[in-house]
Amino acid sequence: MKAVPKCWAVIPAAGIGERVGSSIPKQYLQIAGRTILEHAINPFIRNHRIAGITVALHPHDVHFEMLDIKSSSDKVHIVTGGDTRAHSVLNALDSFEAKLDENDFVLVHDAARPCLMMSDLDQLMDVCIQHEVGGIIGSRVTDTIKHVENNNIVNTLDRENIWRAYTPQMFRLVILRSAIQKALKDKIGITDEASALEYAGYQPCMVEGDARNIKVTTAEDISLAETFLQQEFNL
Ligand code: C5P
Repeated sequence: MKAVPKCWAVIPAAGIGERVGSSIPKQYLQIAGRTILEHAINPFIRNHRIAGITVALHPHDVHFEMLDIKSSSDKVHIVTGGDTRAHSVLNALDSFEAKLDENDFVLVHDAARPCLMMSDLDQLMDVCIQHEVGGIIGSRVTDTIKHVENNNIVNTLDRENIWRAYTPQMFRLVILRSAIQKALKDKIGITDEASALEYAGYQPCMVEGDARNIKVTTAEDISLAETFLQQEFNL
């Protein structure tokens, strides 16, 4: 009999986040009383379908151990991250080896996305668990999108088919691992997990989510994220 697939979460948190202009990595900045990383992990701690959470940390991280995360949930484990986000995710996937079933899923979520709604996480899991590959959360683009080279507009893209890619991104764990390995071996630049799967020939699905699920990248994003968190959820 086939085992019921388990769902694991990976939080790549080994980046230094230079663009935000702070002396500490952006995932450790406080918003509404908690670090961005704690807000990002919280929905996965609260979701009962998530069997375990692995956080990839920078080799010189001195901040994580000061947080209450590990003591508040025995679901949380840590691994050392790598030189790029893809290497950090791969290190975390490799740490699952022993407890893995080939049907298991993994959800990868940026440490810098503090505004994921519990309902979006649930919806992604409901859809992807039925899917042979998996999929991601995203939102439709509403602006007109230009292709620009050297500050000159080359053409306008058809926005009907253009979506923003967010996280979490949920895939069958064995497929994701081999896709990332292939992309790294072929030196293909990948900025999210779905692009590794696309390169390997798969077609992940897109699940529409709340557009407030922003990645904190610049200083302005911090006040935006604070407003969103106060409006709705997870405080
Ligand atoms: O830099 P960027 O915002 O694209 O990073 C996305 C996510 O990947 C962040 O959560 C960051 O901490 C993580 N990351 C990582 N290992 C790296 C680089 C980025 O885990 N080497």
